[in-house]
Order: sequence, then C-alpha cells, then structure tokens
Amino acid sequence: MNIVAGCDVGSLTTKAVIIKDRKIMESAITRSGPKPAESAAKVMEIIFEKTGITQKEIACCVGTGYGREKIAFIDHAVSEISCHGKGAQWLAPSVRTIIDIGGQDCKVIKLDKQGNLLKFAANDKCASGTGRFLDVMAKVMNMDVSDLGKLSAKSSAPVTFASVCTVWAQADVIKLINSRRPAEDICAGINTAMANRVSMLANTLKIENDVCVTGGVAKNEGVVKALSKILGCRIKRIRRIDPQLTGAVGAALFARERL
Ligand code: ADP
Repeated sequence: MNIVAGCDVGSLTTKAVIIKDRKIMESAITRSGPKPAESAAKVMEIIFEKTGITQKEIACCVGTGYGREKIAFIDHAVSEISCHGKGAQWLAPSVRTIIDIGGQDCKVIKLDKQGNLLKFAANDKCASGTGRFLDVMAKVMNMDVSDLGKLSAKSSAPVTFASVCTVWAQADVIKLINSRRPAEDICAGINTAMANRVSMLANTLKIENDVCVTGGVAKNEGVVKALSKILGCRIKRIRRIDPQLTGAVGAALFARERL
C-alpha cells in the first residue's frame, strides 16, 4: 500500500495531507480545538470523507505541530521545523531559506543544497510577527484576515506604525480608522509592520536565496511582497498546494521515508 499521511496540529489550524504513489492525493484544513487529539481526528475524518479511504489503508502516518505528541493514530512524531524544511524543499527544490509564519509563532529555517537542516531561529514569545498580529488587526478593521493582502495592494500611501507591538499597533489602527485614513493604507501599514518584525528574525540568520514563505500567512500577498522588499530577496512561491499545508506535506514525506 502506497498511501501515507502527514498530520500537522498547529495552534490555530490542523492540517492533513495524503500522499499516494508520490503524488498529493488529498488535503484538509480545519480549525484547531483545545484538544490536539480531537483536532487531528477531525481533520482525518474530513480526508476520509473526501477520499473514501480508511485509517487502515494508511501505511504510515507522521504527526507534527505543537500537538503532535497527543495524536493517537500516528506512527511517528517529527518537529515542525524538520517538516516545514522537508515539505518546502519538495515543493520548491531551489529553496534554502524558509520563513514559516503560523498563528502563534514564526520560524526562519535554513537548509543546505540537499535539503538538510542547517539552522533555525524562532519567535514564539511575542504576537507581533505572527499570524495573531494580523488576526487582531483584521478584527479591529472589521474584515476577514484573508482580505488584508488584497486590500493593501490598492494602497498609494501606506501608514507607518511607531511600534511593532500588537497592543500599541492596535490602538494606532483604531485612531487611524477614526481619522478616516483609507482602509487600504491602514492594511498596507499592517502588512509592512508584520514584515518588518519577521525580517528582524530573518536577519539573525544569513538569508540565502531562494527564500520561500510557508504557513497560513504565506497567503497574504501584502506581507510576502513587503518581506521581499525589506529583505531584498526573491521569494519563491509555493503553487502546487496551499502553503499553509507545507508542514503536513513534510510530515507525509517523512512517513513515506519511514516506509
Ligand atoms: P498554525 O500552524 O500555528 O495553526 P497556520 O500556519 O495555520 O498556523 O497560520 C494561521 C495564520 O494564517 C492565521 O493567524 C492567519 O493570520 C493566517 N491566514 C490563514 N488563512 C489566511 C488567508 N486565507 N489569507 C491570509 N492569511 C491567512
């Protein structure tokens, strides 16, 4: 049986990817609940419904993400850093630096030419520079986080924030809304503030081309473009699959290797 699975239980979303005969067969994303074991079971149920396959048909499953140790049905657990590295290298082989921006943390991962992990830096102490920053700002702006990128593309005069701190920037956004600054300029400022914070982390390692962004925030065009400008590098886009699934893809690839 050539079916393997990767299950990534993140702080905000739980992702699963099925690989069959070296090809991505199916994937699913669902919101994480308080119990990682239940979130993992839920995402696999979605996959089973979509594909008609059963748990027994999965020859090997690797779990990753903060909740990986709690997943009952996995054969092995592998760190998110290794899984994002593995997944990104498979999806975009020229990649040497991966910037993974999730809901509650951000990691910069460096790989060698063979895709082996060289080093990494992480921010999991502060909301700024993570998806949480964008989620908070989108809520204040009364819009969906998925609209921040599209709207910011229309900006001609982006605002600048005095601080990257989520609390201060949130207060600034409220003031800007009340002073009737156009929403697109505020969104562009939010995305740039986010990219500035992430670039501080990225600059603690020596960035090497090609660079790619993974995690849910990779879907925000505004942040990706601002990052490319601030870091002065090309950003290779992951197009074969939703970049939020990169860690789950890596986990499925580790499962295939374990077989
Ligand atoms: P985790 O693995 O920590 O659960 P994810 O990699 O799933 O995190 O990323 C979640 C973050 O991605 C959210 O906080 C949000 O800011 C961002 N995000 C999710 N979906 C979208 C989207 N469609 N467009 C832009 N940003 C998104």
